Amino acid sequence: MAGRIPLQVKHAMPLDRRSRALNDLRISVIDRCNFRCPYCMPEDDYPRDHRFLSKANRLRFEEIVRLANLFSELGVRKLRLTGGEPLLRRELPELVRQLSAINGIDDIAMTTNGSLLPASARALHQAGLNRITISVDSLDETTYRELSGGRGEVSEVFAAVDAATRAGFGSLKLNCVVMRGVNDDQVLDMVEHFRGSAHVLRFIEYMDVGTCNEWKQDRVVPSAELRSRIDARWPIHPLPANYGGEVAQRWSFADGAGEIGFISSVSEPFCGDCTRARLSADGRLYTCLFADNGHDLLGPMRAGANDAELATLIGAIWSARDDRYSEIRGVAGSPSRERVEMYEIGG
Ligand code: SAM
Ligand code: SF4
Ligand code: SF4
Repeated sequence: MAGRIPLQVKHAMPLDRRSRALNDLRISVIDRCNFRCPYCMPEDDYPRDHRFLSKANRLRFEEIVRLANLFSELGVRKLRLTGGEPLLRRELPELVRQLSAINGIDDIAMTTNGSLLPASARALHQAGLNRITISVDSLDETTYRELSGGRGEVSEVFAAVDAATRAGFGSLKLNCVVMRGVNDDQVLDMVEHFRGSAHVLRFIEYMDVGTCNEWKQDRVVPSAELRSRIDARWPIHPLPANYGGEVAQRWSFADGAGEIGFISSVSEPFCGDCTRARLSADGRLYTCLFADNGHDLLGPMRAGANDAELATLIGAIWSARDDRYSEIRGVAGSPSRERVEMYEIGG
């Protein structure tokens, strides 16, 4: 960005045991959510009186920024703010403003359910947020309500898209988790609605993250199946990736009506290119979405570790990384069902 001093490399850029660099950091700014999507935080397991992290045990802004600085020195160029619902974290634009001033960070994105976006879209844009992804699993009132755990309305999604567009976020990404027998019959309606707009709808295969969504393989709709259904109605062609390690496969409509994406972590795993680390709201570093535990950074930081010690710790954790859960899903000897919940570390 303009006016930045050249990045000084203070630490060696670590590679993990599969030669993957550390390029992206997803930061969960809060573990709370105002929705109860059944595939992520089902109401029965997370009733209204559920005890989430206390403020004292959550990373403070200055701690997030300090860690993000160190991650940037270790190679991270892209940040994504997530949660829980990131817009429940007070003063989020102030955090964005501080993160966007970090040398070496080229891109800051956020994933949100959108319900609280109209109140802060402009401030987030002015603070330096580059991109927004809004989750929208259906445009049918009843299904949307069901998939938000009875907490969200489709009209709020449209209000969020409008607010983000007016605030200056040109092209949004719209994420739809597809579950067989739940919303897979609505895929073409969603495509029809968003094709021809500036926004990119992306279908995500339902994943076995966390421990409480009672995931079953037969609920997954493979992207290849969706692609052939879409292609039969509106022919589509594959596009090259924008950059190495891009999560979504990009396709374009043959008639020029824009682009759609597919995130096929179950049927076509992409662990070989996975350069993403995840920082939970309580300051733990996770090297995989399916990890069973995280590495505590908050403890050492609050105990007085200096920057060099923290950077060495992070580098050592990354260098020891061998994760490739999606590639070995279901194989005998693959990791146990003990694993972090998605709302704790974000998507
Ligand atoms: N609350 C925000 C939201 O929903 O956009 C951000 C956090 S949410 C954990 C991030 C993304 O993970 C969302 O797009 C959500 O749909 C996706 N997600 C959650 N559970 C999932 C699952 N079991 N399979 C696939 N995607 C999932
Ligand atoms: Fe909340 Fe997002 Fe999880 Fe839904 S997917 S419960 S909106 S964190
Ligand atoms: Fe990355 Fe783990 Fe997902 Fe593989 S399973 S792509 S290593 S987060």
